[in-house]
Amino acid sequence: MRQAVILAAGILGAGAGTLIPRAAHRLSVPANSPPRAVCPHCQLAFQPGARGWIVVGNRCANCARNLGPAWPLLSGILTVTSTVLAWRLDPTTADDLVLLAAWLLVASAGLLLACVDVAVRRLPTPIVLATAATLVAIIGAAATVSHQPWMLVHSITAGGLLAGIYLLLALLGGGMGMGDVRLAGMLGLALGTTTWTAVLLGAVLPYLLAAPHAVAIGVAARGRSHLAFGPYLVSGAVLAVLATG
Ligand SMILES: [Zn+2]
Repeated sequence: MRQAVILAAGILGAGAGTLIPRAAHRLSVPANSPPRAVCPHCQLAFQPGARGWIVVGNRCANCARNLGPAWPLLSGILTVTSTVLAWRLDPTTADDLVLLAAWLLVASAGLLLACVDVAVRRLPTPIVLATAATLVAIIGAAATVSHQPWMLVHSITAGGLLAGIYLLLALLGGGMGMGDVRLAGMLGLALGTTTWTAVLLGAVLPYLLAAPHAVAIGVAARGRSHLAFGPYLVSGAVLAVLATG
């Protein structure tokens, strides 16, 4: 059972990774712009609806040029992350399995958001909010299955706490944007299903992880536009649950 869950998580991660480049490419636009609708090289219009978003790999169907980040890299990152999450969370009950699903969603949506943040220094609000709403539904399901309603309360409290901490940092001019505040809240929802130590680590680790990068580019002097904080928030949350889960 344990090996099957770990294997399934790895396969899901590998598959999800191949779907990220096209979505990341389409979402990597300036603020208040609609998602990209055509290939920038040959102007081929992307398919309407879900078929234009759920695309395997990163080649344009017409000109075969690369759109978005390299899929083997993203697939590799998600395979490793999903496998390690399944191994570390070691689900044995139905509600554990549901919570593993929540973390696999955090890893996949987090990687998509990180790609967009690196490309255009933005964290698209609809993706963050849709992921947060799905997390609340998943965690609510786990709380119901396990008859532990406190789990959902704990989760929403942790989400509010992390969003509050990052809002304070944004207001104090710590180089954060409102996108970081929303993402911190979303990650807090998932961290809140574990321990308060994980929530605390999830708040602190992103800073420690970003510190060398921030120092290297002198972010204190030049502001947020030079540092994408999203990847550090996501990796901090995943490392926090791996360290304490
Ligand atoms: Zn093209």
